[in-house]
Amino acid sequence: MVHVPKPRCSNCQYPMLALKKFEGDSSRDAPGFGDDTNYRVWGSWGILYDIFKSLTKGADLQRRRKQVARLKVEILPKFPNSMICPQCLSVLHRA
Ligand SMILES: [Zn+2]
Repeated sequence: MVHVPKPRCSNCQYPMLALKKFEGDSSRDAPGFGDDTNYRVWGSWGILYDIFKSLTKGADLQRRRKQVARLKVEILPKFPNSMICPQCLSVLHRA
C-alpha cells in the first residue's frame, strides 16, 4: 500500500477528506444535550439553551449537507479525487 499524506486545508490547516466519501458531517456537528455546568448555573434556562443550540446546529448541518451535495455534483464529474476540508468546506480539485 502506498502511503499518501493527507493534504491540509490552506485556510484552516485541517486535514482534508475525500470529497466523494464526505457527507457534510463532522464530529463537532453532533447535536449534544446534557452539559451539567449549564443546568447548575442556569437551571431550566440551561435546558432551553441546550435545545436552542441543538436546533441551530441541526439547521447548520442541513445547510452543510446541501452545500456538500452541490459541490459533489459540480466537482466530482471533472475532479473525482478532489479533497474537501470538513471544517470550512474548501475544496482541493484533483482529477
Ligand atoms: Zn479548512
